[in-house]
Amino acid sequence: MIPLSKPAPASAGITGTWRTYKPVVSLDKCIDCGLCWLYCPESVIDWEKGHKVTIDYTYCKGCGICADVCPVKAINMIPEEA
Ligand code: SF4
Ligand code: SF4
Repeated sequence: MIPLSKPAPASAGITGTWRTYKPVVSLDKCIDCGLCWLYCPESVIDWEKGHKVTIDYTYCKGCGICADVCPVKAINMIPEEA
């Protein structure tokens, strides 16, 4: 049998506690391309064509990859509240 591993949230616990910056989506700028969903290493972005992006902050670790890959800069990384 070949061992398979699929990406899934929580493979390293409640990764939301790691965050110092939080991705916030400006839905008015979003062009529904799905790149943030595709590249999020924690698989915590929920996206489907025609439905807007949502992020599960319990597991989002704040890496900023989603903001980097968004072609229209619809995702901003803002500091977490101290
Ligand atoms: S910052 Fe973006 S890419 Fe990184 S874990 Fe959170 S939602 Fe995913
Ligand atoms: S990458 Fe940006 S434009 Fe594309 S779905 Fe995500 S937020 Fe929207």
